[in-house]
Amino acid sequence: MIKGSCHCGAVGYTFNHVPKRTTSCNCSICRRLGALWIYAKVPKITITGPTTAYAWGERSLAFHSCTICGCTTHWENLKPDGADAYMAVNLRLAAPEVVASIPVRHFDGADTWTFLD
Ligand SMILES: [Zn+2]
Repeated sequence: MIKGSCHCGAVGYTFNHVPKRTTSCNCSICRRLGALWIYAKVPKITITGPTTAYAWGERSLAFHSCTICGCTTHWENLKPDGADAYMAVNLRLAAPEVVASIPVRHFDGADTWTFLD
Protein backbone atom coordinates (compact mmCIF):
# COMPACT_ATOMS: atom_id res chain seq x y z
CA MET A 1 0.00 0.00 0.00
CA ILE A 2 1.17 3.52 -0.80
CA LYS A 3 -0.15 6.71 0.75
CA GLY A 4 0.26 10.21 -0.60
CA SER A 5 -0.95 13.69 0.17
CA CYS A 6 -0.85 17.13 -1.41
CA HIS A 7 1.33 19.92 0.00
CA CYS A 8 -1.32 21.40 2.31
CA GLY A 9 -2.60 18.00 3.41
CA ALA A 10 -6.24 18.56 2.42
CA VAL A 11 -6.19 15.79 -0.20
CA GLY A 12 -4.86 12.30 0.37
CA TYR A 13 -4.82 9.00 -1.45
CA THR A 14 -4.45 5.36 -0.53
CA PHE A 15 -3.17 3.08 -3.28
CA ASN A 16 -3.86 -0.58 -2.44
CA HIS A 17 -1.58 -2.17 -4.99
CA VAL A 18 2.16 -2.76 -5.42
CA PRO A 19 3.38 -0.95 -8.53
CA LYS A 20 6.32 -2.50 -10.41
CA ARG A 21 7.05 0.79 -12.11
CA THR A 22 5.92 4.38 -12.35
CA THR A 23 5.29 6.20 -15.61
CA SER A 24 6.72 9.51 -16.74
CA CYS A 25 4.77 10.63 -19.82
CA ASN A 26 5.66 13.35 -22.31
CA CYS A 27 2.14 14.15 -23.56
CA SER A 28 0.91 17.74 -23.60
CA ILE A 29 -0.38 17.73 -20.03
CA CYS A 30 1.90 15.23 -18.28
CA ARG A 31 5.07 17.03 -19.36
CA ARG A 32 3.70 20.20 -17.82
CA LEU A 33 2.50 18.58 -14.61
CA GLY A 34 5.71 16.64 -13.99
CA ALA A 35 3.69 13.83 -12.45
CA LEU A 36 4.80 10.23 -11.99
CA TRP A 37 1.78 8.00 -12.48
CA ILE A 38 1.01 4.68 -10.78
CA TYR A 39 -2.04 2.83 -12.05
CA ALA A 40 -4.58 0.48 -10.49
CA LYS A 41 -8.17 -0.56 -10.93
CA VAL A 42 -10.54 2.04 -9.50
CA PRO A 43 -11.60 0.06 -6.37
CA LYS A 44 -7.93 -0.18 -5.28
CA ILE A 45 -7.62 3.59 -4.93
CA THR A 46 -9.23 5.88 -2.36
CA ILE A 47 -9.11 9.67 -2.65
CA THR A 48 -10.14 11.98 0.18
CA GLY A 49 -10.46 15.76 0.21
CA PRO A 50 -11.48 18.58 -2.15
CA THR A 51 -10.24 18.44 -5.73
CA THR A 52 -10.99 20.32 -8.90
CA ALA A 53 -11.10 18.50 -12.24
CA TYR A 54 -9.69 19.48 -15.63
CA ALA A 55 -10.71 17.78 -18.87
CA TRP A 56 -10.39 18.87 -22.48
CA GLY A 57 -10.67 17.61 -26.05
CA GLU A 58 -12.50 14.29 -26.15
CA ARG A 59 -12.89 14.54 -22.38
CA SER A 60 -11.89 10.94 -21.76
CA LEU A 61 -9.76 11.76 -18.71
CA ALA A 62 -10.09 14.28 -15.91
CA PHE A 63 -6.98 15.47 -14.09
CA HIS A 64 -7.59 16.40 -10.48
CA SER A 65 -5.73 18.83 -8.25
CA CYS A 66 -6.15 20.08 -4.70
CA THR A 67 -8.47 23.09 -4.55
CA ILE A 68 -6.26 24.73 -1.93
CA CYS A 69 -2.59 24.13 -2.80
CA GLY A 70 -2.95 23.05 -6.44
CA CYS A 71 -0.95 19.81 -6.34
CA THR A 72 -1.98 17.32 -9.04
CA THR A 73 -3.32 14.29 -7.21
CA HIS A 74 -4.81 11.83 -9.73
CA TRP A 75 -6.67 11.29 -12.94
CA GLU A 76 -9.93 9.49 -13.52
CA ASN A 77 -11.35 7.91 -16.65
CA LEU A 78 -14.55 9.77 -17.63
CA LYS A 79 -15.54 6.93 -19.98
CA PRO A 80 -14.74 3.91 -17.80
CA ASP A 81 -15.14 0.44 -19.22
CA GLY A 82 -16.87 -1.22 -16.27
CA ALA A 83 -14.99 -3.30 -13.71
CA ASP A 84 -11.76 -3.10 -15.70
CA ALA A 85 -11.54 0.68 -15.46
CA TYR A 86 -8.20 2.04 -14.31
CA MET A 87 -7.19 5.28 -12.71
CA ALA A 88 -3.88 6.74 -11.60
CA VAL A 89 -2.44 8.70 -8.72
CA ASN A 90 0.60 10.95 -8.72
CA LEU A 91 3.43 9.07 -7.03
CA ARG A 92 5.18 12.43 -6.47
CA LEU A 93 2.81 12.96 -3.54
CA ALA A 94 4.18 9.92 -1.69
CA ALA A 95 7.17 9.96 0.67
CA PRO A 96 10.52 10.58 -1.11
CA GLU A 97 11.90 7.15 -0.18
CA VAL A 98 8.83 5.48 -1.68
CA VAL A 99 9.19 7.51 -4.89
CA ALA A 100 12.88 6.56 -5.10
CA SER A 101 12.14 2.84 -4.66
CA ILE A 102 10.01 2.47 -7.79
CA PRO A 103 11.67 2.36 -11.24
CA VAL A 104 10.57 5.04 -13.70
CA ARG A 105 9.55 4.16 -17.25
CA HIS A 106 9.29 6.82 -19.92
CA PHE A 107 6.14 6.74 -22.03
CA ASP A 108 5.90 8.55 -25.36
CA GLY A 109 2.34 9.79 -24.96
CA ALA A 110 3.11 12.71 -27.25
CA ASP A 111 3.74 10.64 -30.36
CA THR A 112 4.14 6.84 -30.65
CA TRP A 113 2.14 5.81 -27.57
CA THR A 114 4.87 3.31 -26.62
CA PHE A 115 7.51 3.09 -23.90
CA LEU A 116 10.83 4.64 -24.85
CA ASP A 117 12.93 2.37 -22.61
ZN1 LIG B 1 -3.53 20.74 -0.90
